[in-house]
Parts: sequence; C-alpha cells; structure tokens
Amino acid sequence: MECPFCKSDNIISGYLMGAYKIRFISNKDRHFTKDTYPVDIYVCKECGSVVRIKVKNPEKL
Ligand SMILES: [Zn+2]
Repeated sequence: MECPFCKSDNIISGYLMGAYKIRFISNKDRHFTKDTYPVDIYVCKECGSVVRIKVKNPEKL
C-alpha cells in the first residue's frame, strides 16, 4: 500500500478503540486491550495521513 499524499510506503495498520474517546492502537500493541471496535485503520507514518479505514466484518453491520 502506498500513501496517496506523500507516496511513502511506510504505512502502519491498527484499529480504533475507546469508550469515551477514539484512540488509535497499532496492531503490535493490540494484546494490551480487548475492548476494540471492528475497524481497521491504516496510517502513513511519514505524513500522518489516514490512508484507509475499513470495517472488519461488513456482513455484521
Ligand atoms: Zn504520507
């Protein structure tokens, strides 16, 4: 995957979580929590742009 804004391929994936505020958690920190939203998010580490947001199980929506 390539960032459409700065053309970097330095993209990290994670997900959104939080009861009172939305917080980004990278996949490698995932084991610290079990309270997650079923949304995958991809962020460019070069420019900070959110490249993609995707629901994990669209059939459950
Ligand atoms: Zn970028």
